[in-house]
Amino acid sequence: MTKKKNKNNKKKHLIKRPKKIQVRRENKINNNQFQDNAAPVIVQHKKYLPKSLRGMEDILPEEGKYWDFVLQKAQDLAEDYGFKKIETPVLEERVLFEKSTGMTTEVVEKQMYQFTDRGQNQVALRPEFTPSMVRAYIEHGMFSLSQPIKLFCFGPLFRYERPQSGRLRQFHQINLEVLGSDKPVSDAQVILFCKTFFEVLGIKVSIQINSLGCSECRKVYRSKLINYFKSKRNRLCPDCQKRLIRNPLRILDCKQEGCKDLITDAPQIVDSLCENCHSHFVKVLECLDEAEVAYELNPFLVRGLDYYTRTVFEILPIRTEVVAIKKDSKLEEKKEGENKEPLPADKQVEVAPVIPSMSALGGGGRYDNLVGELSGRETPALGVAFGVERIIEELKYQNIRISKERAPKIFLAQLGELAMRRSLKLLEDLRKEGFRVAENLAKDSLRAQLEMANKIGVKLTLILGQQEMSDKTIIFRDMSSGNQETIDQEKMIKELRKRI
Ligand SMILES: [Zn+2]
Ligand SMILES: [Zn+2]
Repeated sequence: MTKKKNKNNKKKHLIKRPKKIQVRRENKINNNQFQDNAAPVIVQHKKYLPKSLRGMEDILPEEGKYWDFVLQKAQDLAEDYGFKKIETPVLEERVLFEKSTGMTTEVVEKQMYQFTDRGQNQVALRPEFTPSMVRAYIEHGMFSLSQPIKLFCFGPLFRYERPQSGRLRQFHQINLEVLGSDKPVSDAQVILFCKTFFEVLGIKVSIQINSLGCSECRKVYRSKLINYFKSKRNRLCPDCQKRLIRNPLRILDCKQEGCKDLITDAPQIVDSLCENCHSHFVKVLECLDEAEVAYELNPFLVRGLDYYTRTVFEILPIRTEVVAIKKDSKLEEKKEGENKEPLPADKQVEVAPVIPSMSALGGGGRYDNLVGELSGRETPALGVAFGVERIIEELKYQNIRISKERAPKIFLAQLGELAMRRSLKLLEDLRKEGFRVAENLAKDSLRAQLEMANKIGVKLTLILGQQEMSDKTIIFRDMSSGNQETIDQEKMIKELRKRI
């Protein structure tokens, strides 16, 4: 009985629904209407307001100067350091990331945008750059070129982050890779690049370094870690209890207070390094000392990806003022003390007031096995990536002034139909002569145009009106004094060169 009743209910429900499906008669456009020159009917979609996807943001014009500033500095510097630009597609075979970034990493397990395309291929939007760089290196036979190969790229990356973490799902990185060198000096050079890059940007940073050793030393360290955490298992967070079995090194990355307490006394990987890895690490540090790069040894820096070997590093912002404020609160002071303790004082040129919970501006490391695992040809390599959104956030936070290098110094104002049309060509002539000129040809009112010129802060406004059109002249208005002069159009360029 009840079953029947349910069925009926369902049917009733279905019948009740057609509201949404109702098609408005007038929306159907018939061909005759067009022939009769009738205005086409605008289809009113029900309450659809276009909006971007969660975690994917527009970069608006007012943000442009920050993006230009960061990218220009990065590109100039990368070229100075001998890096060549490369661009790869945002979409790759999913298996590339599974085999490189690593199946057990959070990125591949939980955050990858992956789908089956119309041709039944398993694809993924790149969640990081390194796998694509390695793929390109192998696919284009860059082994055969003179090593190392130094690549530079920039672009969007995609991770399905939890919205509450405040992270973007489409974000941008600047990325550098050095493929085909195992020399410690290559590590030092990439880290030196980081130092210089942030110097050029004007951001104060601390460079944190550690070595993860090779697969041999990692084995030794792994068992030491498991031994240490095994007896304290119950005090670990549920995630770390799982990590203890699958990937104990990842515990060192945990941000949970309880786990952080235990990590402080955990064995350090530096003590487990084999002879070769130890000497490699020492040489990297010696090179950095020689190049006067300040750094901090952070024995618990592991980075979240599977492929890292030997040198790993991270760049954290130094927010001096924030630390000073936070010290007022006893709770924060305690937190700070706890986190600073594990950093050994030797080898430090400068002790940076680091806030450990703050996310890094960039980071990277060596991945000596990755190219070999994917191609069968052993190729030691390393790389670094910088988060562009994070850097811009930091530029704003540290109040770093960014001047637009080619801001317009001239405004062209026009009055009347003829002058407005003539202005189009005049702007072209000025641009060809190398002047960047602001305008608003869509405005008729001279007052409105002068207000705009004032707002932009130009030095000079050129005014072209009816009278000037017939006299073949143009008015030069000095924006600071308000003085106006009439100049022959023929002499305009020469006069501008004198004054700008
Ligand atoms: Zn080793
Ligand atoms: Zn934990």
